[in-house]
Amino acid sequence: TTTNERHVAERFSVESDRSYSMLIDGAWVQSSSGETFACVDPYDNASWGRVPAATVEDVDRAVRAARRAFDEGGWPQTLPSQRAALLRRFADLLTENADELARGQIHENGKLIGEMTWGALQMGQHAHYVAGLAETIQGRTIESNWPNTAAFTFREPIGVVAMITPWNSPLMLLSWKLFAALAAGNTVVIKPSEATPTSTLRMAELAMEAGFPPGVINVVTGFGQPTGSALVDHRGVDKIAFTGSTSAGRAINKQAAERFARVTLELGGKSPNIIFSDADIDNAVHGAMAGIFGATGQTCMGGSRVLVQDSIYDDFVDRMARATQALTLGDPLDPTVDMGPVSNRAQFQKVIDYVDLGQSEGAEVVAGGARCMTTSELSKGLFFEPTVFANVSNESRLAQEEIFGPVASIIRFRDEDEAVKIANASDFGLAAGVWTNDVSRAHRMIRRVRSGTVWVNTYRLTNYSVPFGGFKQSGIGRELGPDALDAYTEVKSAWIDL
Ligand code: NAD
Repeated sequence: TTTNERHVAERFSVESDRSYSMLIDGAWVQSSSGETFACVDPYDNASWGRVPAATVEDVDRAVRAARRAFDEGGWPQTLPSQRAALLRRFADLLTENADELARGQIHENGKLIGEMTWGALQMGQHAHYVAGLAETIQGRTIESNWPNTAAFTFREPIGVVAMITPWNSPLMLLSWKLFAALAAGNTVVIKPSEATPTSTLRMAELAMEAGFPPGVINVVTGFGQPTGSALVDHRGVDKIAFTGSTSAGRAINKQAAERFARVTLELGGKSPNIIFSDADIDNAVHGAMAGIFGATGQTCMGGSRVLVQDSIYDDFVDRMARATQALTLGDPLDPTVDMGPVSNRAQFQKVIDYVDLGQSEGAEVVAGGARCMTTSELSKGLFFEPTVFANVSNESRLAQEEIFGPVASIIRFRDEDEAVKIANASDFGLAAGVWTNDVSRAHRMIRRVRSGTVWVNTYRLTNYSVPFGGFKQSGIGRELGPDALDAYTEVKSAWIDL
């Protein structure tokens, strides 16, 4: 067999053509309407399995189950050590099944095996970390200004948390919410992306195997409308933890505001990767490319605006264009491949439209710019050439709107002040990269760039121990880090007259 035939065979040994069920109150069920939708592999456009399309009634049943588990089931009253033990069992199952979880996601979103395997393995470590945090939940005693009183606080779970997730890193982005919410004693209803539901169902299956009680974790599968929207609207839901586009986040935030439901929103970005003339240029070219072409540009933190200082501009553009043309596209299960397909048809069309728009706005394509048709393998799937635009104006739509694909826009700047001005001239503020060998400049830039994360001489590093989230329209709240449980607890103050 050829290398490619082998990868295809491996792909189908992981998931066969089958019908999936969703998880409500500990039972695996179909949609009340009987309707299903197809799962499609972006590598070859083959559809391979069907998933229930949850109705408004199904969502209601799932929320009621989560409500019962919270209000009557005793889950919030379990000891922190009991919740930690369940999380640790879950962690070990996730690690044991990391390869299957990675491959399942690739089957759904076409991302590279290296990245998906790393992400799947991270989840086990992350769950152990959060299990440790579960046993550190504590309130305070406070010296108030009233005589003869005792005042103190508790951190209590919020209640039922709806988790709505995107397709780009379906399990890792779910894990950022799920572990902390469970550790704090909440119950959850998950609505995975319609593009990646089966990997989430498999993760929920492992949670059940770990021993989480029925109703504590529920999964409803379906589209934003009506499934996601019904979940956001449900009065039984106390908090919505959402990762996805800024436009869906805005709609969800408005709906949630009706009843002041709590929200954590992890939204889009148009992150600047700022390259100063004193940087190590080879590293910077590599970092700029990894920042935007890693994950085929389908990452919220993609460094889609590459800001390059005047004195090295022409040389940098030339090097990045040449290195981009040398990237290998192909089967995401092949570990030697640099970039996989775009994950779905809608996203593919969006990339095509933005590349047309960029050209009509006067930017210059210096690498890529077209659908990849070089081999029959690539023409079968949703492959788009990694694309670099030079001479981009920061005011153009190309530089202001999130494409979420393999498209880099190179923008010129004169000095540090102008770099800061351009970097911050965006509605988004998720992340930024700075490439310099001047330590003072690095510190100044970290403080001056308005984004939730700033990387210096690296890009796209994340870890469960470091908070992540957005400034401005990139979101509300933070996930991960030592305070991750704050997002899933309410502070209760208590007074006693002595
Ligand atoms: P999307 O907003 O289209 O969908 C995300 C999820 O929301 C899906 O499950 C979808 O079904 C659901 N949904 C859509 N509209 C809804 C509505 N009105 N009510 C309830 N649910 C609704 O996003 P996507 O295309 O799946 O993911 C890509 C986007 O996610 C990008 O904008 C990217 O930047 C963002 N993202 C952000 C982060 C982060 O941490 N900040 C991480 C990954 C992705």
